[in-house]
Amino acid sequence: MDGMSMSALPQWHFSSPQGLANYEAACRHYPAQAIVDLVALRDNMRHLVQVSHEASDAEVMGVVKGDAYGHGLIPTALAALAGGATWLGTAQSREALMLRRAGIGPERCRVLTWMYNGTKAPFEELIENDIDIAVGSIDGIEALAQAARRLGRAARVHVKVDSGFGRNGFTPEGFGPALKRLVELSSQGVLEIVGQWSHLAVADAPDIPQFVDVTEGQIAQFNTFTAMMREAGIAPKIRHLANTAATLSRPEIHFELTRPGIGLYGYEPDPAMGTPSRYHLRPAMTLQAQLGTVKKVEAGHGISYGRTYVTAHETSTAIVPIGYADGIHRSASGFDTPSARHTDKLGGPVRVMTAQGPRIMHVSGRVCMDQFVLDLQGDAESMGVREGDTVELFGPGRGEEFLEPTADDWARAAETISYEIFTCLRTRIPRLYLGAFEVLDEHDRAMLDPSTLL
Ligand SMILES: *Cc1c(COP(=O)(O)O)cnc(C)c1O
Repeated sequence: MDGMSMSALPQWHFSSPQGLANYEAACRHYPAQAIVDLVALRDNMRHLVQVSHEASDAEVMGVVKGDAYGHGLIPTALAALAGGATWLGTAQSREALMLRRAGIGPERCRVLTWMYNGTKAPFEELIENDIDIAVGSIDGIEALAQAARRLGRAARVHVKVDSGFGRNGFTPEGFGPALKRLVELSSQGVLEIVGQWSHLAVADAPDIPQFVDVTEGQIAQFNTFTAMMREAGIAPKIRHLANTAATLSRPEIHFELTRPGIGLYGYEPDPAMGTPSRYHLRPAMTLQAQLGTVKKVEAGHGISYGRTYVTAHETSTAIVPIGYADGIHRSASGFDTPSARHTDKLGGPVRVMTAQGPRIMHVSGRVCMDQFVLDLQGDAESMGVREGDTVELFGPGRGEEFLEPTADDWARAAETISYEIFTCLRTRIPRLYLGAFEVLDEHDRAMLDPSTLL
């Protein structure tokens, strides 16, 4: 370790010298990396599949919307399939098409999309690519039917019903006319009615009685919609309602298909439900960065815009070279100054390796566009902290002594949810993948950018 500080060496197990070379190239290219463990993604999916099978024999859709919650669409999709998912779900239809174009064909899994402009969507392309389409409006039904007619091929449809979420889908009042059109178009062979589905508003709060009542109400409403479809002669073959929270806690509503998202990435839907390990889940993403300037500063030194943080003692500061242009929330700024403007708000946590072991430092002052500052609360030299050291913003949360923040900790600091923490990370932060050689066969690996494989 001569001449090297504690954090200069990567902690990762590389699959080969090429993996290490890829890592080093990525570090030269950008001073932060999001490292995604495909083994964790596969194992999380396996667990969710097992839970779904045990309780109800339901199939599982890996929800990979939002670039797979920021983890990378194609690598995550492949890991989810390796873990036993037989469906993939994206909100935007563009992402559904990207899955098919990457080579994930209909023989491997069904793909469902539910977000598009109902008058201008690429319906023909979606039908040609064997993508299932959600409909929740009469306009959408008509536009989709026209596309199916032009192609001479039935569109596979999942009827979205609003069971109480108040977002997309038919309300009970609006369902009559829609049902009539669906029956006509189905009997003409224009639409194939495959599914009926809805989304839950508060399934992540199983301990709050009012919310449990709301979920019960949504389930009752969902069943009413099913009865109406059956009576009209277009009984849905596949019903789906369960997100991660309901997949884990409400086996009675798995129906024929569950739709977990956050669980695939290794997080529980709400920290009030406990930590990921309680649900046998392991966070897949680690966000790390290499320190910029490390220097000594005097007591009473203002840090960053607005002087919202003033150093209490003589100390050292370190630059973390990513900011809100990378998706680091400005709301995770830290105002833990003992000055008169003290608001006692700890900034986002960062794990820094020192000569005395790992320490958690916090964002000090405001997060800027491309950087933020850490007050190291001591002398960098005696702590053995230097420019170029790798620090960790969040990771799987390995044990007490490891002192590793998770995206839940960042969510708390930024007053948001873990979903937003990793979904906001810009693609300019390279995504690097661990475990590709363990999880994916050669055919699947060929779909990935080889320079991203560790
Ligand atoms: C995002 C989403 C899910 C997955 O929700 P999680 O809480 O991440 O499990 C399921 N269904 C729909 C419609 C969604 O938009």
